[in-house]
Amino acid sequence: MNIASLFRKEFDVETHKIRAAVLRRKGAPLEIESLEMEGPREDEVLVRIVASGICHTDIDFCDDWDEAEVPVVLGHEGAGVVEQVGKDVKAVKRGDHAVLSYQSCGKCPPCRSGQPAHCESLYEANFGFQRLDGSNALLRSGVRGHFFGQSSFATHSLATERNLIKVSKDLDLELFAPLGCGLQTGAGTVTNSLKVSRGESIAIFGTGAVGTAAVMAARIVGASPIIGVDIKPRRLKLALKLGATHAIDNRRQDIVRRIAEITGRGVDYVVETTGNPGMHQRAIDVLNPHGIVALLTGESGRNLPGGRKTLGIIEGDAVPQKFIPKMIEWHRTGQFPFDRLVKFYSFSEINKAIADAKRGETIKPVLRIGRG
Ligand code: ZN
Repeated sequence: MNIASLFRKEFDVETHKIRAAVLRRKGAPLEIESLEMEGPREDEVLVRIVASGICHTDIDFCDDWDEAEVPVVLGHEGAGVVEQVGKDVKAVKRGDHAVLSYQSCGKCPPCRSGQPAHCESLYEANFGFQRLDGSNALLRSGVRGHFFGQSSFATHSLATERNLIKVSKDLDLELFAPLGCGLQTGAGTVTNSLKVSRGESIAIFGTGAVGTAAVMAARIVGASPIIGVDIKPRRLKLALKLGATHAIDNRRQDIVRRIAEITGRGVDYVVETTGNPGMHQRAIDVLNPHGIVALLTGESGRNLPGGRKTLGIIEGDAVPQKFIPKMIEWHRTGQFPFDRLVKFYSFSEINKAIADAKRGETIKPVLRIGRG
């Protein structure tokens, strides 16, 4: 090996020109810029993004992001077409269609025992803005990617087999993009984490995308009653159409009293999606003596006096390669009509889409990135 070939190996990494929405300042609008991204490594897949959902985690990041770090590309509900695969990738080939989900390491004990939502490197793999080895495919442009192993607010993403789910080419990728995070979290919490069964009672605090997915899943498993709680009458109305048997407007009604009236002795489960400290306490107050609160808000759980408990839940304990096909099947059979939550935006409307989601105007914004 001569010096020239060494030099090439080090510096001639293949790159792709992509366009991506970059966050450069806390709270500032995202700016769509041209960037250079490395091609896929042995275990990576280059995906041309057709669409990406916008999730509250993206929005929270725009406002809470630590500006000491270099600019970043957000987005973690991507769907698209496989353009190029690394040599170790077996699950997909060029031209396959895929939905992207959260990243996991694949090596730690929880990952090896089929529980990627409990991955020991979950934080680094999803919020590290770099690969687990510390490298970053957008380095040349002075930007960091790899958010949730995808950074899907871009025309192209680098994913791996662990956060990529091959789907049928018959599916509308624009519609199915948002399955990978929020909807999976809400539905998976009901069916995987809480294992709610027929006839059990459940209250869902917050009927945004995550909460409404929980409502639809609760109906699928036959829970009853299913009580939606929100401050937006329009969202409550939709929750009633999609499976809630009761709706409580938290601004006008006393949740604790209303739930006691509806259930007699308190609910078996609360799914708390709001992250509001007052709602956290109220979720505990409305439980029956053996009730469980599922916290989808990043907090960890604890046992409470008298047999009740709270559980901190991540990604609905879902294995995306199993759970996303399940949600697709529910949708096909009309049981999971999440399309009722979706509003489409062009890529250039990304800041409007975020603003609409913040105001609660749009429940699930989806960017049509592939249309340019
Ligand atoms: Zn792991």
